[in-house]
Amino acid sequence: MQSIENYDFSGKKAIIRVDFNVPLDGNFNITDPSRIRAAVPTIKKVLAKGGSVILMSHLGRPKGTPQDKFSLKHIVSAVEKEIGTKVDFANDCIGEEAIAKTSALKAGQVLLLENLRFYNEEEKGNEEFAKKLASYADCYINDAFGTAHRAHASTTIIAKFFPNDKMFGFVINGELDAIKKALDEPKRPFIAILGGSKVSSKITIIEALLKKVDKLIIGGGMSFTFTAAQGGKIGNSLCEKDQYETALRVLAKAKELGVEILFSEEEVCVKEFNNDSPMRVFPANEIEDGWMGVDISSKSIAKFDKAIQECKTILWNGPMGVFEMDNFAKGSKAIAESIAKSTSNGAFSLIGGGDSVACINKFHMADKVSYNSTGGGALLEYIEGKTLPGIAAILEK
Ligand code: AMP
Repeated sequence: MQSIENYDFSGKKAIIRVDFNVPLDGNFNITDPSRIRAAVPTIKKVLAKGGSVILMSHLGRPKGTPQDKFSLKHIVSAVEKEIGTKVDFANDCIGEEAIAKTSALKAGQVLLLENLRFYNEEEKGNEEFAKKLASYADCYINDAFGTAHRAHASTTIIAKFFPNDKMFGFVINGELDAIKKALDEPKRPFIAILGGSKVSSKITIIEALLKKVDKLIIGGGMSFTFTAAQGGKIGNSLCEKDQYETALRVLAKAKELGVEILFSEEEVCVKEFNNDSPMRVFPANEIEDGWMGVDISSKSIAKFDKAIQECKTILWNGPMGVFEMDNFAKGSKAIAESIAKSTSNGAFSLIGGGDSVACINKFHMADKVSYNSTGGGALLEYIEGKTLPGIAAILEK
């Protein structure tokens, strides 16, 4: 493995797996360019050191069929704007045009290849396909953390063709540093805040975190399964009856490990699932039938805020309520503010998972936390203790 800081790119072609899977509106305008922006330091480093750059990415889910709406040609001008250099485009990621354009590439030039997922071979991790991509370049940089948990051709398999010339870009280096800081060497006390809808989808993360944290806040829709499992009344709130045993097991394990679990004291409830539905606050374990909890109340916010201010490391995954509806976003917003305040007082905060990052962005607080993870699924798999194939492929000798 090489380091992007020290590698000699002079006169070399670098093929970089970036994550340009950006959201586009109906007119192909990029509604959030942050993924392109994130890749800029890596691209600029190669160019500044006298190399040339071949960019490859997926966009959307074309499932092996070329489709105009998933073409990366729509983002060429945005990439040019972000890196301040002209970007050429190859209409197919493999084939004659790609071969001709990559072989003609000169130092300082940038070429973007068409969507990798126009070929099923990409997601299948096909070795021949990976070999074709590898043939364009002298070195390989993986800078797409969001797909690092997938053994795809461009994220994992390709690395074997560069045994001495493979490395992480700055995005992945930043992610790994932030994750290590939070999970492997946390300053104590360490608090994790988990929310979102389902216990079943978060259980392996909860169990992995119990071994690492001092305190755990469980909020959002998944908290009701815990309340109901203990005999509380949750009205029509979200609930997974088949997870009662799991919930009780988590509570027992936390007790055994001395981890304090904090639940919402009171919930903001509605009768109908829409933003303008009249709201009523109930104690979280005494919600009347016909009402469902959609956000944490101010009393719960105060309780959670106190715990967050006492901690030195904070990990947040999952909203505290139905944050997509403005009237039920107050709890998630208050938690974001609390994390920002604790961060300004010296805590290290890592925000992970698509919805928590969406929360932080919605409330314009991205620059007030220590690190926003770009890879929801990849981060969660890392927390669960799984090996990410895209990371392992670079680390392997
Ligand atoms: P997840 O994908 O499991 O992290 O869940 C995120 C989703 O959980 C968001 O779309 C939220 O709207 C939803 N959510 C959070 N709290 C609640 C709640 N109290 N009732 C229903 N859905 C919720």
